[in-house]
Amino acid sequence: MLDRSQPSLSGRKPAIDLHGLVTELFPINRSLTGAGVRKTLEIVGRHIDLAVREVETGTAVLDWHVPMEWNIRGGTISTMSGRRLVDFGENNLHVVGYSKPVEGVVSRAELAAHVHTLPDQPDLVPYRTGYYADDWGFCLAHRLWQTMTDENYRVEIDSDISPGSLTYGELFLPGQTNREMLITCHICHPSLANDNLSGIAVMTALAMRQARGRRRLSYRFLFLPATIGAIAWLDRNESRLAGIEHGLVLTCLGDPGGFHYKNSRSGAVIDRAVAHVLQHSGHPYQVLPFNPYGYDERQFCSPGFDLPVGCLMRSVHGTFPEYHTSADNLDFVKPEALEQSYAVIEAVLDLLDRNRTYERVDGRGEPQLGRRGLYRAIAGQRNAGGAGQMDLLWLLNLADGKHSLLDMAIRADVPFARLEAASRLALEAALIREVH
Ligand code: ZN
Repeated sequence: MLDRSQPSLSGRKPAIDLHGLVTELFPINRSLTGAGVRKTLEIVGRHIDLAVREVETGTAVLDWHVPMEWNIRGGTISTMSGRRLVDFGENNLHVVGYSKPVEGVVSRAELAAHVHTLPDQPDLVPYRTGYYADDWGFCLAHRLWQTMTDENYRVEIDSDISPGSLTYGELFLPGQTNREMLITCHICHPSLANDNLSGIAVMTALAMRQARGRRRLSYRFLFLPATIGAIAWLDRNESRLAGIEHGLVLTCLGDPGGFHYKNSRSGAVIDRAVAHVLQHSGHPYQVLPFNPYGYDERQFCSPGFDLPVGCLMRSVHGTFPEYHTSADNLDFVKPEALEQSYAVIEAVLDLLDRNRTYERVDGRGEPQLGRRGLYRAIAGQRNAGGAGQMDLLWLLNLADGKHSLLDMAIRADVPFARLEAASRLALEAALIREVH
């Protein structure tokens, strides 16, 4: 079902309650594969026309194979007298992702080899996975573990690892051109709000917005299990990659920290666009160099593909104490932070969609502005945040078919909208024509 009730094209306000969507998705147990991923995509699919794709277990994708599907119904550690100490039903972080089924009595020493805690953050439950480990395990608060001094415990994990498929979601929105922007997030974490759900919520709202507006570029939104999902998508879509002009991986967008943008591997327009928007946003931010770690930008930017894909986040994975723990919860993610992230990315999308390259019609020298009524036009715009004389001079100087409006805005050190306004004046005065 599609929700088309609330148009919000230029209001800088998302069409859905972002924190509400994070809250709705939070309890679901997600992993690389399984029912929780499908449930998550089903909920996202209530807002956008999402195509859900399944790739069968064992399918060869690049250098990898699609793994077995993991599903879990419960997991507990109890005392021998039957008192439940750890329960997956209360918090899905309690069972290590891809744990194989287990049932029986184990000694404390044996259990210790399967227990993960955070001695430095003794009240928090860590998030751990063992995708290819053929093992089982529990995650619990260190403080609880220290109180567990019985000789034996009863453990049960009701799970299965069996042939099935890997699931991902895709929405393609054709534009006036087939030059494409790729936007992705990961969907494989269980109850973690910032690392996972913030990206899903913001991307869903962005997809809703782009679906409604006029689009020059085409947009492809991918909801992928990290790493293997991106690898599977790349493997199945090699023929489509040439059209990708810009790409953005979204993650950790709901915490109150400043913005961080990680550049693409080889440098791209997206890098300049995001840095430009952040610079003029008034929010604290930092641009980071590419490195081959992190989220799926490392797949999209791997050799042989080297796509123009960067990664936008607020706090950087691994640097905030809540990361991959039970403290990455619904309180850690703030509605204002989510909405601010949405607005920043919306501005980036608008900029890229409207970024054009012009050349002068008249050719050489500075055109006479007064004769064409341009001084009057500038004076008329002055109080409306429009173009100033310097903006127009920059535009006319750099309209050589080689500089885009973004290039000009960066060179002039003014917001993109000012050069865009100058381009409208110059177009009306028939001084420039669009090259692309
Ligand atoms: Zn993570």
